[in-house]
Amino acid sequence: MVTGAPATMLDRREELTPMLAQYVDVAERYDDAVVLFRVGDFYKAFCEAADEVARICELTRIEREDSTGTYTACGIPVDNAPKYLKRLLDAEYRVAVADQVEDPEEASGLVERAVTQVLTPGTVVEEELLAAGSNTYVACVATAAGGSEKESEGNPAYGVAHVDVSTGECAVTAGDAAAVDEELARIGPAELLCGPGVDPAVVDGADCMRTERDPETFEPDAARAVLDRYAESERFDAAERVAAGALLSYAEYTQGDDGPLEYVRRVRRYDPRRSLRLDATALRGLELFENHVGSGRTLFDTIDETRSALGRRRLRAWLRRPLVDREAIEARHDAVAAFAERTLVREDVREALSAAYDLERLAGRISRGRADARDLRSLHDTLAAVPAIRDAVADVEALAEVRADLDPLDDLRELIDAAVVEEPPQEITDGGVIRAGYDDELDEVRSTAREGREWIANLEERERERTGIDNLEVGYTQVHGYFIEVTNGQLDRVPDDYTRRQTLKNSERFYTPELKRREDEILGAEERADAMEYELFADLRDRVAEESDRIGALADAVARVDALSALATAAVERDYVRPEIVAGADATGGDTGDNDDGIHLKRSRHPVVEETEPEFVPNDADLPRGTVALITGPNMSGKSTYMRQVALAVVLSQAGSFVPAETARLPVVDRVFTRVGASDDIAGGESTFMREMRELTDVLHDATGDSLVLLDEVGRGTSTTDGRAIARAAVEFLHDEAGATTLFATHYHELTDLADEHDRVVNRHFAATERDGEVTFLHRIREGAASSSYGVEVADLAGVPDSVVARAHDLVAADRSDAGDRSAAGDDTVEATPQRTLDEIATNGHDTSSPPAASGSPRHDPAVAGLLTDLRDLSLAETTPLEALNSLHEFQRRAEEAGDVNRDGYDDDGAVPGGGGQ
Ligand code: ADP
Repeated sequence: MVTGAPATMLDRREELTPMLAQYVDVAERYDDAVVLFRVGDFYKAFCEAADEVARICELTRIEREDSTGTYTACGIPVDNAPKYLKRLLDAEYRVAVADQVEDPEEASGLVERAVTQVLTPGTVVEEELLAAGSNTYVACVATAAGGSEKESEGNPAYGVAHVDVSTGECAVTAGDAAAVDEELARIGPAELLCGPGVDPAVVDGADCMRTERDPETFEPDAARAVLDRYAESERFDAAERVAAGALLSYAEYTQGDDGPLEYVRRVRRYDPRRSLRLDATALRGLELFENHVGSGRTLFDTIDETRSALGRRRLRAWLRRPLVDREAIEARHDAVAAFAERTLVREDVREALSAAYDLERLAGRISRGRADARDLRSLHDTLAAVPAIRDAVADVEALAEVRADLDPLDDLRELIDAAVVEEPPQEITDGGVIRAGYDDELDEVRSTAREGREWIANLEERERERTGIDNLEVGYTQVHGYFIEVTNGQLDRVPDDYTRRQTLKNSERFYTPELKRREDEILGAEERADAMEYELFADLRDRVAEESDRIGALADAVARVDALSALATAAVERDYVRPEIVAGADATGGDTGDNDDGIHLKRSRHPVVEETEPEFVPNDADLPRGTVALITGPNMSGKSTYMRQVALAVVLSQAGSFVPAETARLPVVDRVFTRVGASDDIAGGESTFMREMRELTDVLHDATGDSLVLLDEVGRGTSTTDGRAIARAAVEFLHDEAGATTLFATHYHELTDLADEHDRVVNRHFAATERDGEVTFLHRIREGAASSSYGVEVADLAGVPDSVVARAHDLVAADRSDAGDRSAAGDDTVEATPQRTLDEIATNGHDTSSPPAASGSPRHDPAVAGLLTDLRDLSLAETTPLEALNSLHEFQRRAEEAGDVNRDGYDDDGAVPGGGGQ
């Protein structure tokens, strides 16, 4: 990365032209950034920096030569800057924009330039560089000691702060290393600052740009001084203070370092335990915001029916931090129900919301002094839409609270309307912004200009009469101003008071003393009017900025209305039902009361899968509190979809949404844990048993009786014996110690006997059937455990030759007796995993006492041997379900070919083998 001043320029610093010397001075001060230097209509970079900018932005480099030698330069056109800035930010560059801070026309000598803004991925405020419907956060993790190590002893807590510099939202919390990891996953920052003494391992999980700051900004006293400008810093923990103070100091720095950011109205202190906790693994496993396999749809995409950027960000936040307070959850459900029941209200509100601009970001731009006249008009139009929203919800009891907050700020709207024309130009320095009648003085200056122009407009007529020159014309050029033009043939009729201004080929141009006077008057008046307009506008903007608290409160209400009506729309359009929250339910640590009721869903669906699966099969879930449901069934039968849909119902309900089911009765869950699917491991770039165990550790440590735990194929990454043992021990622990409601999908069929020994362990299974010669998964959950031989059965359904199926059944039986036939329950107790069954076929086939039914050993058939090798070598951990199916199809084809040659051909079943979860 090339940042700061290019080395080649520093080397010959003394010889540089004054402008390049100025560039080097600025660049040296911003040595962690690419400096873009305003020259004319371009932002320029030079030498090595030019090479880098040209490469990233795909711009042409230009070789320059001056008295001091040659150098390269490259320029970003100012008009088109956002496009290129975005590329630099995406490449994780900080960009310091050095603008001309002096009017070039007034400058004597070199124009003064200074960095007016430092753009970084986490602190951008430019509308063009931001995603409208999501927040862009920069986060900061710090220890209580900040810069000084001594104080951190005995105080392991970290502060975690985050701010969205475009909207001013700022919040902070504190916790241990695990809490930091979880918070960073939820915040999803674009940029991260770490204080001195923060163990790098703690922030390892955050996949974003790291920014180094001067350790001094993390000094407790320095941080407190900054935080004091925004909040009562005594309210915060020591570590929170350091994190928030250091972060805000950085935010100020990126906005030009001229004082506190007024629109950061408060620094919210929060406790992550006051919301349904979802760690990185759960967020990923449930695909709330990102999708790593398949359709590309996420839960958020599916339910997002918001109409404004404000609402979209709010809904995202609700889903990211669902509630755990029963009253608050029900209040949201009440409001959603109110909108869901009233189609007209909902439609009116949504139509009005469509006219709403992004109030939060508008308020931010206004406070930063960066709003133009169009921004103020957008604010006006948004305020004008508020009464319609308020009227629409007027008689709805459940919406009374939000209605009260929908203050249309009439005074502000009227002020803007009186001041700013309806369709103002983009530039605020060239006039045309302020309405007539707003300011007397401006009106007077304008009328002077207007009268002057009228006088000139009539001049041609008058002069033609006076001089008798019929073709005399009055015109204007930028360079020469107003003139009277007379053709060469008429020059003898020119009166004495005409003074020559310019000679052309066929004519002469003149002016008169009066014309000159009028011209000066007009230009003077226009210039003055422009300057006055700018001043009036800036004043107005400041007055609006003073109202940022009220605008912020309104923005909050609009965001809520949008999110609530969006949830109602999703509920109506997708046929979701209002969940009944179990009486007494609360996961805030108080009395759990009837929370004992657990999760009860009738005909529930997976909100995302049902969108793409035309015949989605609804399933019930009856999970009294503390139930451990062991779910068996072949791959692709729907286990993981089922487990996720139960968890998603809980998440949706606690976010305030209705849920995809016919009826729903739900508790308040404190935390959802997931350890699902092999594909997740691959998404994380880590496909190891170690990681699986680490995730299991988290679950076992932290799950409580109010938690919901999803475990898919635990123990798959090790030997069958070990895996089975770990899985069994985990189930026992969750049942006996944690008491957590658990959905446990497993291939270890022998675990199903746990139901006999533990009262809250139940067996459920998914089955497959055959239709038209094809294996069909019914996707229907049933009581009891799957048959232990389901793998072989599916192989049979899939068309694996009978001889192989028979042999596989034998091997399952043999394995069962090897295992000592631990229970009289037969099938339901002991099973070789399908993986193992195939291993047996592959490796032991030839030396078993019962050879395949038909003649000839397949081992000697090279086609079969090759097939088996390929089958064994197929890395299941790196195979998606679709790829697995394709491989299965291919294996079948090869098996059939082999079968044609060798009637007793073996086959295999890629769908069944312990390939597992996904
Ligand atoms: P498993 O976890 O048992 O391997 P999945 O839950 O991943 O199976 O489901 C496999 C596929 O089956 C899913 O991608 C989905 O397309 C389909 N599916 C799952 N559940 C259902 C259902 N209830 N109705 C219809 N299709 C389903």
